[in-house]
Amino acid sequence: MVEQELRDKYEVVIGLEVHAQLKTKTKIFASDRNEFGQEPNSLTSPITLGMPGVLPVLNKECVNMGILLGLALNCEIPSRCKFDRKQYFYPDLPKGYQISQYDEPICVNGHIDINGKRIGITRAHLEEDAGKLVHAGADGIADSTYSLVDLNRAGTPLLEIVSEPDMRSAEEARNYMEELRNIVRYIGVCDGNLEEGSMRCDANISIMPKGSKEFGTRAEIKNVNSFSALQRAIEYEIDRQIEIVEEGGEVVQETRLWDDNSRETRSMRGKEDAHDYRYFPEPDLMPLEISREWVQRIKDTMPELPAQKRARYQSLGLSEYDANVIVEQMGLALFFDKVLELGANPKTAVNFIMGEIAAYLKENHLEITDTKLTPENLAELISLIEKNTISNNIGKQILIEDMITNGEKASAIVERKGLSQISDEGAIKELVQKVVDAHPAEVEAYKNGKTNLLGFFVGQVMKETKGRANPKSVNEILRSIIG
Ligand code: ADP
Ligand code: MG
Repeated sequence: MVEQELRDKYEVVIGLEVHAQLKTKTKIFASDRNEFGQEPNSLTSPITLGMPGVLPVLNKECVNMGILLGLALNCEIPSRCKFDRKQYFYPDLPKGYQISQYDEPICVNGHIDINGKRIGITRAHLEEDAGKLVHAGADGIADSTYSLVDLNRAGTPLLEIVSEPDMRSAEEARNYMEELRNIVRYIGVCDGNLEEGSMRCDANISIMPKGSKEFGTRAEIKNVNSFSALQRAIEYEIDRQIEIVEEGGEVVQETRLWDDNSRETRSMRGKEDAHDYRYFPEPDLMPLEISREWVQRIKDTMPELPAQKRARYQSLGLSEYDANVIVEQMGLALFFDKVLELGANPKTAVNFIMGEIAAYLKENHLEITDTKLTPENLAELISLIEKNTISNNIGKQILIEDMITNGEKASAIVERKGLSQISDEGAIKELVQKVVDAHPAEVEAYKNGKTNLLGFFVGQVMKETKGRANPKSVNEILRSIIG
């Protein structure tokens, strides 16, 4: 660990390269299904296997998704882009090259704003994923001394999103990555699952003396598969580089692997330069012309983006914190939107969603869509509370006891269990009088100044009515009788 004082001498520079697997039905250049978790090598055609003589055919849906993501990241979509071959040898890459985009990518010059700070997006390009090596001992192949190749993932469409070196701390990098994840999920191009590897991140990190304009040499960190690991890896790497520089050494440009168990980065290989890959235009694919009409058609399908959602929620009276929390959980946010569309009071709805519902989901490890609760039923429940048909507490009770588990309508439960609120003044007066008569000692104490006994009396009335009495009327009537 490096002392804070030492850290303060340096400025940190971070740029991220994020790979997002696109949620298409089929692969980017072949008709094999694009699915996770299938029998190894069951999703492989001659194209995916890199057989001689086969030709790639571009999946149009990948281009649609690339344009959509580019627009969401405020990028320009050039009217022409092309594909290139990036050559390298690895057992999970049967062709001996990856089809990618080099100097003419599908998206350029974008940005996103994170907490008021603009992070530039240099480019985003389409490419194919490689297969996967399953090493000795992993994935249930205990004690094996060999590695297996699974090519199901080969040819999965990827968008690689390259940021400008605009981030200045591990926390900023994490916030940027989280927002990117939100964006790809909300626009529906990627499921953003870091653990399954459908979204992956390489972090480029360098340090320079504070005030310097010249960036230091960067190291690239791979193998981070959670947001917290990303933050830890960057923090570790910053300290490692500071120690090297403080001891008079030099940071070398290389690729390092993060090991989340030992919590350190290890050198993996020297960093290749672009010329090492012998890029050249892919001769089997035509350059792609993207008309402005095509871009417009995609623009017209753009759903509300996370930042817009947050702003809308805040304009409805939600706190910044609540708006953030709800947007982070897409299932809940989409549910909340439907409840709002049905005319429910936003504050009441958010109290239920962030309170009882979120707690229930967390405790039972469920998503909202795994439960029987529908937006219609929650909206109806809220309207019963607004109309004083039931109290807020009864509402919470039937929500958790009945609605989430059996999908019943609130009004039906209220009817069946006789839960409607007692608001009739005469009836409440009678109940209050009964409680007052039964507790003369407490009444005496109350009159002698122990005013916090009011809660006791309210509680007794509630107990009598199983929570059905209108608490506001009970309070008023109590005060008028004993006050
Ligand atoms: P490569 O594919 O060789 O890693 P790219 O140019 O595609 O190169 O990506 C480089 C990434 O590293 C970008 O996200 C960029 O912002 C970032 N980067 C470049 N220089 C530095 C630096 N000195 N310190 C930190 N990050 C850097
Ligand atoms: Mg890189």
